[in-house]
Amino acid sequence: MVVGDVTTAVDVLVLGAGPGGYVAAIRAAQYGHHVTLVDPGDAGGTCLNRGCIPLKALLSASERYHQAQPAELASLGIHTESVTFDWPSMQRWKQSVVERLSNGVRQLLAGNRIELVTGTGWFINEREVRVEGVHGSHRFKFEHCIIATGATPTVISDLPYDGRDVLSPEQALALPELPSELVIAGMTTLPSNWRPSSCAWEYVSPSIRQLSVSSITVNLSCNVCSRLVCVN
Ligand SMILES: Cc1cc2nc3c(=O)[nH]c(=O)nc-3n(C[C@H](O)[C@H](O)[C@H](O)COP(=O)(O)OP(=O)(O)OC[C@H]3O[C@@H](n4cnc5c(N)ncnc54)[C@H](O)[C@@H]3O)c2cc1C
Repeated sequence: MVVGDVTTAVDVLVLGAGPGGYVAAIRAAQYGHHVTLVDPGDAGGTCLNRGCIPLKALLSASERYHQAQPAELASLGIHTESVTFDWPSMQRWKQSVVERLSNGVRQLLAGNRIELVTGTGWFINEREVRVEGVHGSHRFKFEHCIIATGATPTVISDLPYDGRDVLSPEQALALPELPSELVIAGMTTLPSNWRPSSCAWEYVSPSIRQLSVSSITVNLSCNVCSRLVCVN
C-alpha cells in the first residue's frame, strides 16, 4: 500500500479518455451511473490529441497552401506574387484546434457529471484499481470497470523511436521543423487519407516515400532517407 492511499467507491470506472472511453463514460452516465474517468493525458485520447485531429488540421492547412500556389491560381485567372508558409504558425494553429476540441470533451464530461481523474490506472485486484498521478495515489473500488486504454505504436526491432530519426506518429505530428526527406512505414491500420498522395508533408516537403514494413531494412541500409515515421 502506497503512503497516502485513499479509497473511493465508484459505480463505473472507465480507464482511458479516448473516443472509446469518454463516449462509454457519457453513455453510462446517461443511464444514471456515477462514472469516474481516468487518463494520464488530456481528454480525447490519441485521436483528439495525437492522431486524427492534429493530422487533419495539418492536412487542411497544408492542402490550402498547396492550392494557393501561384501556378494553381493562375489557371483560374488569379495572379499572386508568391505564397509562403510558416511551419511553427501551422503547428500553433493545429494545437489550438486540438485544445479547443479537448476542452469541448471536458465540458461534455462535466455536463454529464463525470469525474475526470488525471493518472494511470493499475488493477490491484478484480474490484480495485489504483490510480497514480502527479498528485499521488488513489484507490477506486468499482462495481463496473470499462477498459479503453487504446493502443501504442509498434516499435520495429532495432529501430526504437528516438524523436529524431525514427518518429512515432505523435512525434511526427509535432515536429518543430519540416524534414527535407521522410519515409512512412506501415499503412495497415490507418485511414485511407494518411498516405503520401495526401500527406501534409507532401504539399510542403519535396521528398516523401512510403514503404511496406518488410522493405524497411533494405531501404534504410541504402540511406534513402533521413527520417522514418512508423504509423503502424
Ligand atoms: C496519426 C493518426 C491518425 C489517425 N487518424 C484516424 C482517422 O482519421 N480516423 C479514425 O477513425 N482513426 C484514426 N486514428 C486512429 C484513432 O486515433 C484510434 O482508433 C482511436 O484513438 C482509438 O480510440 P481509443 O479510445 O480506443 O484509444 P485512445 O484514443 O488511444 O485512448 C486511450 C487512452 O487511454 C489512456 N490510457 C492508457 N493506459 C491507461 C491506464 N493504465 N490508465 C488510464 N488511462 C490509460 C491513454 O492515455 C489514452 O488517452 C489515427 C491514429 C493516428 C495515430
